[in-house]
Amino acid sequence: MTTVVKLRCRCGSVRGTLEEVSPSTVNHAICYCDDCQTFANFLGSEGITDAWGGTDIVQVGPARMKITEGAEHLRCVRLSPKGLHRFYAGCCKTPIGNAMPPVPFVGIPRAFLDVDAEKSDETFGPADTVQGRFARGIPPAHVHPKASFRTLARSTQRVLSWLIFARRPSPYFDPKTGKPSVAPQILTKDERATHRDRPRAKA
Ligand SMILES: [Zn+2]
Ligand SMILES: [Zn+2]
Repeated sequence: MTTVVKLRCRCGSVRGTLEEVSPSTVNHAICYCDDCQTFANFLGSEGITDAWGGTDIVQVGPARMKITEGAEHLRCVRLSPKGLHRFYAGCCKTPIGNAMPPVPFVGIPRAFLDVDAEKSDETFGPADTVQGRFARGIPPAHVHPKASFRTLARSTQRVLSWLIFARRPSPYFDPKTGKPSVAPQILTKDERATHRDRPRAKA
């Protein structure tokens, strides 16, 4: 069974919907990577990351997402010229979606999903953990330092299914030109360094 999940930025100006949501149609992961932490610092609003710097993200097929209100508040930043497109609501600095065209996915941070915490596992499935080697402090023992084989296999399978069933771009891109619907701000190396709160760990 699938459900429709409401999307809502913190202040309520940007709203939308996610369709056909179930643990078997989405990828649910908490990402501890340094870029997600840098993005959270760039936005500077509370409640995006957990105590160890992890961002809870639900990845979906882009065609399953709609913005119904407040599209004029969309903003986009890239941490480098080739970085992910990271969209946020300019009204209240809520992160609202990460994308990397032409790969057919949009990663929606928890802060934009209007679902009670206790319904999260039931709605999206339990979260995998990835990139724990970048976590702040000592994360819980189950946090994976990179990504488990199971996580990688499952996300590959999902992306392939989205290629078939949900390929049409998310509302963050123009369906004709493939360009982002709002011109991205691209951070310089210095700007990016300012928002990183600690040096990058060695790979
Ligand atoms: Zn807002
Ligand atoms: Zn990340």
